[in-house]
Amino acid sequence: MKRFILFGAPGSGKGTMGERIQRDFGFARIATGDILRAEIERGSAEGRQARAHMDSGGLVPDELVIEMVRRRLQAGDLDGGYVMDGYPRTLRQAEALSQVPCDGEKAVFIEVDEEQAVGRLLSRLTCRECGAIYNRANKPPLRPGICDVCGGAVEPRRDDNEQSVRERFRVYAERTLPVIEYYHRLGVLARIDGNGPAGPVYERLRGLIA
Ligand SMILES: [Zn+2]
Repeated sequence: MKRFILFGAPGSGKGTMGERIQRDFGFARIATGDILRAEIERGSAEGRQARAHMDSGGLVPDELVIEMVRRRLQAGDLDGGYVMDGYPRTLRQAEALSQVPCDGEKAVFIEVDEEQAVGRLLSRLTCRECGAIYNRANKPPLRPGICDVCGGAVEPRRDDNEQSVRERFRVYAERTLPVIEYYHRLGVLARIDGNGPAGPVYERLRGLIA
């Protein structure tokens, strides 16, 4: 199975790109946020521990995330390849992932200017029920305020304000740099320009998979 790892700051369009790869290439999509949510809903031991860390305002520890992802990677649906979104976030996670064999690995860093990322995030709307993402500027829901997928309420995320967005952008760049370096040293890193509309960005990304 092939492994495709997407990196990109908040507002880089990484989530959208991951979804398109999933759709067009039949890859499974592995997003840490989804795994966490599933474990918490199932009430597994790891889920309960993760929940406790989140409730106290802390980060979920590496060991816990690594274990949850390791288990996810044992599921039987990955033979056609998989795309990872939001993982690995730390060097330790990257090293743990390298222990999981695959037929070929590529890491792609979607680079986007801060101003563009901030603009995108500030016009972003999300569905409170299903998490579907919309954009005031170029992808509004068909009926204002109502999710096309599930009929839930569509609104800006509470933390999508300018100060919080700039802070998240800065923190991402700082924390992720060592992980990107790690893949660069492995010789599997590509960088693509993530500025501009999603269509052409996706074409650049596609070229790296096909
Ligand atoms: Zn929805």
